[in-house]
Amino acid sequence: MPIFEYKCGDCGSKFDLLISNSEKKDIQCPECSSTRVEQQLSLFNTGGKRTSAAPMKCDTCSISGG
Ligand SMILES: [Zn+2]
Repeated sequence: MPIFEYKCGDCGSKFDLLISNSEKKDIQCPECSSTRVEQQLSLFNTGGKRTSAAPMKCDTCSISGG
């Protein structure tokens, strides 16, 4: 189940919730109980930078038995 991050439109508090699609409509701010919340970008566990591209194999240099 994905984690959704929300931001309260009233107090500006940010919070993330682990909810299903059907529960999206009943989101309340945990700080001020406001329903004016905006969904932010989803938080996925894709941390970490990508390493540099792996060295490409040279086709022309490869030894082939012609
Ligand atoms: Zn709030």
